[in-house]
Amino acid sequence: MQRDIKLSIIIPIYNEEKTLEEILQRVIVVQFPKNISKEIILVNDASTDGTREIIDRLSKDYIVIHHEKNRGKGASIIDGLKRSTGDIAIIQDADLEYDPEDINKLLPPILEGKADVVYGSRFISSQPHRVLYFWHYVGNVFLTFVSNTFTNLNLTDMETGYKMFNRSAIDAIKDKLVSRRFGIEPELTARVKRFRIYEVGISYSGRTYEEGKKVGWKDGFSAIWCIIRFNLFP
Ligand code: UDP
Ligand code: MG
Repeated sequence: MQRDIKLSIIIPIYNEEKTLEEILQRVIVVQFPKNISKEIILVNDASTDGTREIIDRLSKDYIVIHHEKNRGKGASIIDGLKRSTGDIAIIQDADLEYDPEDINKLLPPILEGKADVVYGSRFISSQPHRVLYFWHYVGNVFLTFVSNTFTNLNLTDMETGYKMFNRSAIDAIKDKLVSRRFGIEPELTARVKRFRIYEVGISYSGRTYEEGKKVGWKDGFSAIWCIIRFNLFP
């Protein structure tokens, strides 16, 4: 008989009233292998739109964390990872850029015992991709390149939001993480570099800044600093 496995789905949320209900619906309908149960952790990063009201209306099936002040995606992820009790955890953004059906693509390397960490790459997939900002893409390739030179990993998408970890990886990093904003992506990468990492291609329907995207060019500069900091002074 297959072992029962719990999957923690951690959702960082800041002002996502437009997409929150739909993303939760899409997470709930994903069919996972029968031996997998899930816990869904919502981290409301002090949203000022209608996000709080939406969360208050939800059933008690969710674990909910509210931040008193807006602290950034990294802080949301750190709190979610600390709260998670799953054998495996994945970060699921609350916008609709990443398709929850793809979680099933990230699972096999961990379930088969080959990987401790799996990244969903937006750049190695034949899946549909929304065609969007060229310079954003160049920034992503560049940051992945700089990260790779420090970690000696050959990742294709360090900044991806889809990152999955098994329990041994979570326990090794969760109390060390400090990046509160988008620097969490290079920090996570630096801290898991000695684990067995796999990448799988995922679909991506990027959104525009008008549609609510928050990461900007300043975050790109701070990412370089985070790459240096967390690789050289972990
Ligand atoms: N987020 C958060 N706190 C913040 C900014 C963002 O929890 O201060 C959440 C946001 O709601 C989303 C995820 O982090 O679920 C990624 O944010 P966004 O989509 O703006 O980033 P991008 O897709 O541009 O990397
Ligand atoms: Mg996003």
